[in-house]
Amino acid sequence: MTDMTGWSVERLHEDHSQALRVERVLYEDATGHQRLRVIENPTFGRVLTLDGVVQVTERDEFIYHEMLTHVPIFAHGTAKRVLIVGGGDGGMAREVLRHPVGSVTMVEIDAGVIDFSREYLPAISDGAFDDPRLEVVIADGADYVRRTEGGFDVIIVDSTDPVGPGEVLFTDHFYGHAARALAPGGILVTQNGVPFLQPEELRGTMRAFSQIFADATCYLATVPTYAGGAMAFGWGTDGDARRTDMADLSRRVAASGLTFGYYSAEVHKGAFALPPYVAKLLP
Ligand code: SAM
Repeated sequence: MTDMTGWSVERLHEDHSQALRVERVLYEDATGHQRLRVIENPTFGRVLTLDGVVQVTERDEFIYHEMLTHVPIFAHGTAKRVLIVGGGDGGMAREVLRHPVGSVTMVEIDAGVIDFSREYLPAISDGAFDDPRLEVVIADGADYVRRTEGGFDVIIVDSTDPVGPGEVLFTDHFYGHAARALAPGGILVTQNGVPFLQPEELRGTMRAFSQIFADATCYLATVPTYAGGAMAFGWGTDGDARRTDMADLSRRVAASGLTFGYYSAEVHKGAFALPPYVAKLLP
């Protein structure tokens, strides 16, 4: 929503909200699934909101997309098949496709988010939608993982928060089907909000992961517009990718020739160090 003073106000939490000054509204529409908007803010550039909640901004999206992509892909070491659930703005596909993967499947429920992101936020997908390795499926991600034959090395859940269409992506059922869709040694990562403000979201996911995966934890990154402190990403695998030592990880990152704005082998390792207020949310 925009209040009388020209600020876009996000009311995701009962006792806390953030506001971004709206320099310009570039687009506003209610698609079949959610109310979609692009505003321009001098500090954050173009900002996509769904039902008033910031999804992505041009200036800080690299942190979120790099950390949900490069942590599992470098940890895995030989990922060839990647599934993205959600991710309609194309930023996750962009980062995944920087790796020599064979195929990326993106399952997005709302075709409107894709069309509109391509038109109004082209810098975020940066050509990813034209890469022949990317297959886009318009479907509910929960339905898709239930029906897929699987064999994915990495599954990235780039979802909205657990309200509206994103809710099913936070259920035990979904996590169980996603685990089954992983190849041996495969890794599932999920966006789990900001645990300082949304502790139950992370607690619920971690409870489910601990019953499904041999290695279940979360890792952290700070994204300015996901306000309230560090953001948590769920990590689940039956393999030993998290034990990749620092020397191997650094070698893989250097050998990739890729450069990053946030990710590094050191940040990767450090992201799994959990402050006690987060660690206590894990079973
Ligand atoms: N980075 C954002 C955040 O954390 O707030 C989220 C990114 S946004 C690209 C999330 C996408 O998930 C949206 O495009 C939305 O349409 C999609 N989505 C929500 N529920 C879904 C579902 N059940 N299946 C597939 N995609 C879904």
